[in-house]
Amino acid sequence: GQRDTDPDTIFDKIVAKEISAGIVRETDDILAFTDINPAAPAHILVIPKNRNGLSRLQKATPEHVEILGKLMVVAGEIARDESLGFGPDGARIVVNDGPAAGQEVPHLHIHVIGGRAMAWPPG
Ligand code: 5GP
Repeated sequence: GQRDTDPDTIFDKIVAKEISAGIVRETDDILAFTDINPAAPAHILVIPKNRNGLSRLQKATPEHVEILGKLMVVAGEIARDESLGFGPDGARIVVNDGPAAGQEVPHLHIHVIGGRAMAWPPG
């Protein structure tokens, strides 16, 4: 995150390729990679490369509209990619916003979780 004062997270190291991750999509401003602790047979994280203040979704402002739209498009592309383990019945696409939701990494990320049926509501 270059344009905010929060410290960098592990995701900045993944973006910088300082630590390895199973990267499945990369564009100029977005990275998608396999979750190191998958919650289901398929579990991909989609992040903006530059956090730009988005430590969590609550920080979103109109300046983030373009990147948020791009993130959602990539999440949808991943969810229909059967080579990643997603099936035709769909996926859970979710943002954990803050500690009550279990957010651990303060760099906005979309979870795309699938390959099995999931209960609703979540725990
Ligand atoms: P949160 O709980 O913040 O919504 O989700 C953070 C996710 O990042 C967790 O599912 C966790 O397993 C994943 N994660 C944390 N550290 C790493 C890492 O170093 N590499 C990868 N690939 N995933 C990570």
